[in-house]
Amino acid sequence: MSATILIVEDEFAVARGIQYALQQEGYQVTVARSGEEGLDFATHQAPDLVVLDVRLPGMDGFEVLRRLRAVGSKAPVLVLTARSDEVDKVIGLELGADDYLTKPFGLRELMSRIKALLRRAYGDLADAAGGRVIRHHDLLIDLERRRVQRGQRRISLTPTEFEILRHLASRPGRVYTRSELLELLRDYEALDQDEKTINVHVSHLREKLEDDPAAPAFVLTVRGVGYAFAER
Ligand code: CA
Repeated sequence: MSATILIVEDEFAVARGIQYALQQEGYQVTVARSGEEGLDFATHQAPDLVVLDVRLPGMDGFEVLRRLRAVGSKAPVLVLTARSDEVDKVIGLELGADDYLTKPFGLRELMSRIKALLRRAYGDLADAAGGRVIRHHDLLIDLERRRVQRGQRRISLTPTEFEILRHLASRPGRVYTRSELLELLRDYEALDQDEKTINVHVSHLREKLEDDPAAPAFVLTVRGVGYAFAER
């Protein structure tokens, strides 16, 4: 697992420097050269963290941040301000920035801020280098340690619930019928041989996982067919 980071910065040299430093640390990095492009990427690709310059041509960084929060993105945002401008900092934090850095800054300082933000947002799973971790917005599924988190909150699942989640989340969008899931789980533990059992487990899983179990965002019902994990 490596965290995905979006840099929104129009100055080529600055963007390239940050990108290179982050890639050296093993992060997956995307650069957007305008506010519009950055907002589009952040909305559709849901990066784990955003480094956002305030001074951008067209839509500025504040507007990007405002719109990002308006569509419900909870990704940590580190704002870059052009100078030691208190007003910029205050506006940025009010709009939901998680931290800010004033240009010019050292890459080492930037790196430690980013690591701290990732740890704050995702807990120690942020450091789970090499392990297989599935991320979907603030949901993290650590397949090796069999642990599940929403943001910092640990979610305790039964082995059966975890197996259902693992199968679904490993292939987002793939629809599993109840009998398919039952078959997959049979390899894992003895279950009542009734497809309705699956419904009960999925309903418990949703109660633990979803904000609103009646309108699930992760484990979706495909009417008349079965269940699928939401595509990113
Ligand atoms: Ca700029």
